Amino acid sequence: MRVDDFHRILIRNDPVTGLRAAFAIHDLTLGPALGGVRRWAYPDDNAALADVVRLARGMTFKNALADLPFGGGKSVIIAPGAGSEKAGPPASPVTEAQLQQFGRWLEELGGEYVVAEDVGMRVADLACMAAETNFVTGIGRGGRGGNPGPRTAQGVFIGMQVVAERLGFAGLAGIRVAVQGLGNVGMALCDLLHRAGAILVVADIDAAKVAHARVRFGAATLPVGELLAADVDIIAPCALGGAITPQLAATMTARGIAGSANNQLAHAAVGKLLRNRGILYAPDYVINAGGVISAGLEYLGGDGFESKVREIGPRLVRIFDEAQASGSTEADVADAMALEILRRPALDEVA
Ligand code: NAD
Repeated sequence: MRVDDFHRILIRNDPVTGLRAAFAIHDLTLGPALGGVRRWAYPDDNAALADVVRLARGMTFKNALADLPFGGGKSVIIAPGAGSEKAGPPASPVTEAQLQQFGRWLEELGGEYVVAEDVGMRVADLACMAAETNFVTGIGRGGRGGNPGPRTAQGVFIGMQVVAERLGFAGLAGIRVAVQGLGNVGMALCDLLHRAGAILVVADIDAAKVAHARVRFGAATLPVGELLAADVDIIAPCALGGAITPQLAATMTARGIAGSANNQLAHAAVGKLLRNRGILYAPDYVINAGGVISAGLEYLGGDGFESKVREIGPRLVRIFDEAQASGSTEADVADAMALEILRRPALDEVA
């Protein structure tokens, strides 16, 4: 794991509440770090650290490309698991005392890091932290923002419209989309897709959510392990990272990928595999920025979410154009664009 480019990485333990958390503050070039807190059970602390480091670096790129005055950071609450060797949902809910302790740790960071929701966290959890600190967003402060999940879905939907157009479809009506993960983002995305006339196939490890999508959207269902390889037009990974493995990239039949999960490609070489097979990949952090745009504006007390989220469309078109012209992967083009923005302040100072 490479961490030499990080501003700060911390592991905190509180024996009183039993709270354990890792904070990774990657880059503060553009402003304080903004990124979600994930609550998950990990097989060991190295796995938790690897997750938070990868996610935090991604936030730097996401915030830069979304034109937000924030750096990149992320945190994970290391939750007790069900005793399995694998990562998975926590075995018990977070307590109010733990959330307040997390809030005090945020306060101690002095504003270097501002937190919003990620996997396993609800608006009510963040509101509980906010009793201890102001460095919390995504709680609907000042009537803005609130739960970032549906806002993220909005951006992913815009990204998927661009992907569909590029694939030669006239719109999303009648397109077959496989949505993996029916959480805050995935369910809201299904709603938007259903209203646009898309045909849905879904999977989640939570059977109740699958049943809900079947009733509400007429969605077909598949076992979790089969969904992304299904005979559909576009897949939308909206669960956890690493969903696009080399094996899936080599065999999948869908022609496009547009989902919310962070770090969807298992590693960078997968992007090349997709490109060689003519599969169009909308880089995750480009199209899943709706939530952080909403959370960032809430924190700053700013307006203009709708126009800012709409910028995702033309941004993605530019990425696809450049990737096509240069032969680079879509992910590499997005990274290069973000790095250019990150280096800009330094150039301004020189000038
Ligand atoms: P969530 O916790 O609300 O939902 C995640 C869902 O995925 C849950 O329903 C869970 O049961 C399901 N799941 C977990 N493992 C699965 C598997 N192997 N197969 C199928 N389903 C599985 O989380 P969310 O907020 O909806 O976020 C979803 C993804 O989008 C995450 O990767 C997150 O980092 C990313 N993301 C979220 C936001 C946001 O605003 N919430 C913003 C940007 C990116």
